[in-house]
Amino acid sequence: MRPVYSVIVPCFNEEDVINETHSRLTNVMRSMSEPYEIIYVNDGSRDRTAHMIAETCNADKNVVLINFSRNFGQMPAITAGMEHALGDAVIVIDADLQDPPEVLPQMSELWKQGYDVVYGKRVKRKGESFLKKFTAKIYYRLLHRLTQVNIPVDTGEFRLIDRKVCDAVNRLGEKNRYIRGLVSWVGFKQIAFEFYREERFAGVTKYSLKKMIALAMAGITSFSYKPLKLATSIGFFISFCSFVYMIVILCQRIFTETTVTGWASTIGLILFTQGIVLMILGLMGEYIGRIFEEIKDRPIYLVQEIIGRDGDKND
Ligand code: UDP
Ligand code: MG
Repeated sequence: MRPVYSVIVPCFNEEDVINETHSRLTNVMRSMSEPYEIIYVNDGSRDRTAHMIAETCNADKNVVLINFSRNFGQMPAITAGMEHALGDAVIVIDADLQDPPEVLPQMSELWKQGYDVVYGKRVKRKGESFLKKFTAKIYYRLLHRLTQVNIPVDTGEFRLIDRKVCDAVNRLGEKNRYIRGLVSWVGFKQIAFEFYREERFAGVTKYSLKKMIALAMAGITSFSYKPLKLATSIGFFISFCSFVYMIVILCQRIFTETTVTGWASTIGLILFTQGIVLMILGLMGEYIGRIFEEIKDRPIYLVQEIIGRDGDKND
């Protein structure tokens, strides 16, 4: 039977939480008394995650496991889930129970009222470091200012979307996917659903600093080229300042006895401007790198096997 709900759970080394997540999620889904499927996407875990989910698959026919050939990242994992989902409503939820499954019936209620995207908005974040919350806050606001697309602030991947939104996002061929941005970009009728973000149930974050920076860069570079324009403004500003400074030096030379001394200030200025030039070159590199990624046209992820379904969408 075709499910009404598809729940996508990206998992990377989540052996400490996965059983608890499954039982809480199953309780909630059963209480909604409509057919559902839970798609666990194992993103190249190196622990027992895949094994544990495969066992769940054998015991529960509502469960599908997509095993990646290696670790591709959370965005590719969600993409795979969205491409394999069969439901009329597609839900994305983290494996670590930071997004409480118990609010899904309320989110589904909004969907039934006619909203196509119900996205979780974090009003409070528990158990995360001050630095993470602070940088996240600044980042979301910066992103909001930089982009033309109205990407909502304080929103992660926890959301429920209608089939037509899922299809629309699946059609976007971008490789480096910032999914919350893509979902905003496609439009349709969207609404925020406020929730308290819980502490991770067990284990540690699977987002290293490197992965977090990469995601943050993907968000900005996919949806804005204002940083490139910044280069022009900085260039103009520096040229203007140097021009004024040159006039000052010239006047000093002509009208006063003081000659310009000191190489320290010269070196300082050179290093400063060189720093800015390098920074801007690096920024441009980010964009060129993205173009390079897109042009290579490699798949976003590779599936090793699918368990719990006959391997395709049409069973
Ligand atoms: N995740 C993933 N691949 C990765 C990193 C994370 O599939 O390379 C999953 C992870 O298992 C979890 C979700 O993405 O379900 C969010 O990760 P995490 O909770 O570690 O991030 P945080 O909440 O600390 O930002
Ligand atoms: Mg988490």
